[in-house]
Amino acid sequence: MRCFQCGTCTSDCPVARFSDTYRPRQIIRMTQLGLKDRVLSSDTLWLCASCFTCTDRCPQDVEVANVIRVLRNLAAEQGHVPQVFKDETASILESGYAYKIPELRIKKRETLGLPLLPKGNPDSLRKTFKGVAFVARMEKKGK
Ligand code: SF4
Ligand code: SF4
Repeated sequence: MRCFQCGTCTSDCPVARFSDTYRPRQIIRMTQLGLKDRVLSSDTLWLCASCFTCTDRCPQDVEVANVIRVLRNLAAEQGHVPQVFKDETASILESGYAYKIPELRIKKRETLGLPLLPKGNPDSLRKTFKGVAFVARMEKKGK
C-alpha cells in the first residue's frame, strides 16, 4: 500500500524494456485495488526475472519482486501457471533436462565429434525439489 505509482520499477525493469505488456507498476496497482482474478490469471506475472532491480530502486521501499513472487505462488495454487512452465517442470522430472533434446541434434553432435551430453539425473533433482509445492502438485497430477 506504500506504492505511490511513480513508475520507477517499470522504467528500470530489464524485462519491461523488452515487453509491450509487462509492467510491474501496473501489477502493484492492480494488487492495491484488489483485482485478484485479473492479477492471478495474467501470464505477464510470469515474465519477472526476479532480478530485484525494482526492489532496490523503489523510493517507497516496496518489495516489488517479493510481491510478484507471492502473487505467483497464489496463482499457482489456483492452477494459473503458463503451460510452458508446466512442460518444463514435467521434462525436468522425467529427464533432468528443462526440455527434451531432439534426437537429430544428439546425432549431429556425434557427427561433429562432440562429446556425449551428460545424463540427466531426475532422482537427484527430485530430492532438491522436495518441499517445493508446485513440483509436488505436478507430480501428484502425473503431469
Ligand atoms: S512500487 Fe515503488 S517504484 Fe514501483 S511505482 Fe510503486 S512506488 Fe514507484
Ligand atoms: S524483479 Fe522482476 S519486476 Fe523487478 S526489475 Fe527484475 S524483472 Fe522487473
